Amino acid sequence: MLKAIFTLDYEIHGNGDGCPYALMVEPTERMLRQFDQHGAKLTILADIAEILKFRQYAEEFGRDDYHYFKITAQLRDAIRRGHDVQLHIHASYFNAKYAAGRWRQDWSEYNFAGLNPERLREIVRQGKEFLESLLRPVNPHYRCSVFRAANWSVSPSKNVVRALVENGFTIDTSVFKYGRRDGLVNFDYTNACSGLVPWRAAEENLCEADPNGKLFEFPIYSENRWVGAFLTPQRIYRACVGRLHRFSGSREIIPSTPVAAKAPQNAPQKSHWLARKNAWKADFNQCSGRQLIRALERAEAQYGSQGVDLPFVLIGHSKLFTGFNEWSLRSFLAFVEKNPKRFGFGKFSDFDLQSFGNARKAARPEREPATPGGATGKAEPAFQN
Ligand SMILES: [Zn+2]
Repeated sequence: MLKAIFTLDYEIHGNGDGCPYALMVEPTERMLRQFDQHGAKLTILADIAEILKFRQYAEEFGRDDYHYFKITAQLRDAIRRGHDVQLHIHASYFNAKYAAGRWRQDWSEYNFAGLNPERLREIVRQGKEFLESLLRPVNPHYRCSVFRAANWSVSPSKNVVRALVENGFTIDTSVFKYGRRDGLVNFDYTNACSGLVPWRAAEENLCEADPNGKLFEFPIYSENRWVGAFLTPQRIYRACVGRLHRFSGSREIIPSTPVAAKAPQNAPQKSHWLARKNAWKADFNQCSGRQLIRALERAEAQYGSQGVDLPFVLIGHSKLFTGFNEWSLRSFLAFVEKNPKRFGFGKFSDFDLQSFGNARKAARPEREPATPGGATGKAEPAFQN
């Protein structure tokens, strides 16, 4: 059976703009209410670096303008209602300074995977301790053991894997197969083990499997698809929000841009932009409910019927969760609910980690939908997530 795990990156805009109540608390409450109606579970990936800054602000200024107390109350409430909260880190907020109504981040710490080993170990420890001390009073069995890096930046992976394992993490969920970025963050997940089935990750390269690895990678569900598959009203909205909250600072900050998947060796060197392929994530802000249903069915055809529960990891952002998303997601939630023999809702803690080795071997070869031509060159920034 495939179990949908809804992961929600819980944060304000990447450039430091925005009100945490409007971008985090209010949309997440709408999601929790909607999910409760269908028995679905939400996994909130809370950016601990921002949340600690909001606490510092409240302590320094004696005013909770950044809604620290509403945020922590919401995280506790989510655990009380049977949802999950795990760790997300935008490290550039740890040394952020508040000036003229916004947060000026420390761009030297923007690239998570580029931080030195001691720094990585320390901030992961801080995040885990914060969440466990916040949430154990609600559920004494609560464990912070799942991680996602800001901007999916876990490459090179050695220091990241070590920092997570040393802090008792068992799962990372940053990788999406076919994903590539060039810029402040650099990675190439083209050759990741799977677009769906988790694997024991190798320390030197998280995309590869190692039977002795101590950390499991649960990839965000992803396919390699041509540009036309990306055109939804939600994605155009996302592109507009991105333009409104552009990065700027003492020097121009250019976040990483997506790069189209590598061309097959015999493909023509230049191809029309419509023929290029990109990593298509199961993103519930940017895909319609119908698209998500079709993706779930494709995943079932490729990986299902193996007698093992497998995670179908979706990604979204609270800051982008519009009323339109809520409406569109209804069909997907109802579809999963109406097919309990084939699909279910889940959290990371629902899976037997030992069961995945065989499932990956049994999956059909990772295939790609047919496209009108080769794939090469840079993608349009509008398709960035
Ligand atoms: Zn994030």
